[in-house]
Amino acid sequence: MDQQQLLHISKQHMWLPFTQMSDYEKDPLIIESGEGVHLKDIEGNEYLDAYSSLWLNVHGHRKKEIDEAIKKQLDKISHSTLLGAANVPSILLAKKIIDLAPERLTRVFYSDSGATSVEISIKMAYQYWQNVGQPHKKKFVTLRNGYHGDTVGTMSVGSIDIYHRVYNSLLFDSIVVPYPNVYHHPSDDEKVVCEQSLTELGEIFKNHHDEIAGMTVESIMQGAGGMNVMPNGYLKGVEQLCRKYNILLIVDEVATGFGRTGKMFAVEHENVQPDMMTLAKGISGGYLPIAATLTSEEIYQAFYADFKEGKTFYHGHSYTGNQLGCAAALANLEIFEKENLVKQAEEKSEWLANQLQEIAKLEHVGDVRKLGLMCGIELVKNKETKEAFPWEERVGYQATLKMRELGMLTRPLGDVIVFMPPLSATYEELAEMLTILRKGIEQVTEDVGEKVNV
Ligand SMILES: *Cc1c(COP(=O)(O)O)cnc(C)c1O
Repeated sequence: MDQQQLLHISKQHMWLPFTQMSDYEKDPLIIESGEGVHLKDIEGNEYLDAYSSLWLNVHGHRKKEIDEAIKKQLDKISHSTLLGAANVPSILLAKKIIDLAPERLTRVFYSDSGATSVEISIKMAYQYWQNVGQPHKKKFVTLRNGYHGDTVGTMSVGSIDIYHRVYNSLLFDSIVVPYPNVYHHPSDDEKVVCEQSLTELGEIFKNHHDEIAGMTVESIMQGAGGMNVMPNGYLKGVEQLCRKYNILLIVDEVATGFGRTGKMFAVEHENVQPDMMTLAKGISGGYLPIAATLTSEEIYQAFYADFKEGKTFYHGHSYTGNQLGCAAALANLEIFEKENLVKQAEEKSEWLANQLQEIAKLEHVGDVRKLGLMCGIELVKNKETKEAFPWEERVGYQATLKMRELGMLTRPLGDVIVFMPPLSATYEELAEMLTILRKGIEQVTEDVGEKVNV
């Protein structure tokens, strides 16, 4: 099929996620292939993949070892159900993940996306308290601007106004607490912000722990809510409060897991032992839809009983534990070992921190936030006051369109530009990306700055 036909059909029949299709019609993009950190569209234009194909990709595209692992698995079987039956790669992967995960976690429940992995954790936590005879513990605590996926359950423990307000009456109530956000806090002292936030949380736990089943929290770095990094010690403090008040700690590592933050899992920055941990995105190296909800043995044991006790976890998805996905994930984790990738990511992270200081100096950059290779660059109208650009100007979106013209793909979160390159990106490739990042920001903020000042 020729380019024009593809374009035409994409406009006529496709409905893309998180996309205003009137925008897509104006600036369509159809990817045909990829190699390393490059993507190529049907017209032959090449782009640097500066968002890891939406925070997934780890080793670049067409990584030989993963391609081969999938082909090898293909010769055995692509999929058989995990309902009532295990399969070989899912077993091997479970062992590998548990070896890497915090010691408290001993069980792997598979699914197929970040949202399902969190949805499962919510249902498990809810049923856990019933199974252990405390059915009054039903509520969830979550952080302002948290994001855990787009299903009704995960939206209910999420708190991003622009995504969730339409569905408000459809969602169950969660207890939303402020994010310990240094950027938006009257005090710019991390320690003060951390202590105040923990005190507030402690009060809520103290007064409501009888009703609270669990707390869901993105690990150290809040992603879709604008790339916000917790102050040092905050997550550790949350862990201590959860233990003190008998509240399950559900840590969402969908975005932060698998080396993204310079550790295998972001909880390692503070040696936190969650009761549950959700994994997706980087788990298969960005290849196939595989996800996992890890739990402690204690949680697992609360469901383990004679059938007649009614403690079974009635939840599953058709493609849970898909063999091709598990084979890709296994190959992915083997490359982590072989290439010592977490260490490499840590080193690149330090280098990147230095480079980003230059970008932080730009006239319309209000803040640069980063953990490992997970970065957000916030664009503002006024650097001093941090006054935002008028939202209708869509400066973040315009900047990413400009970057696309210059040969790099990423997506904004409002006026925060996401910079999340594959962990495999070389220093040279990273430098290339940073150049485009800078140019895109400069060109667009100049244009808009002029318009706004007229
Ligand atoms: C992306 C993301 C999700 C949702 O994952 P999907 O695979 O898109 O459903 C959940 N939690 C966090 C922290 C995420 O970044």
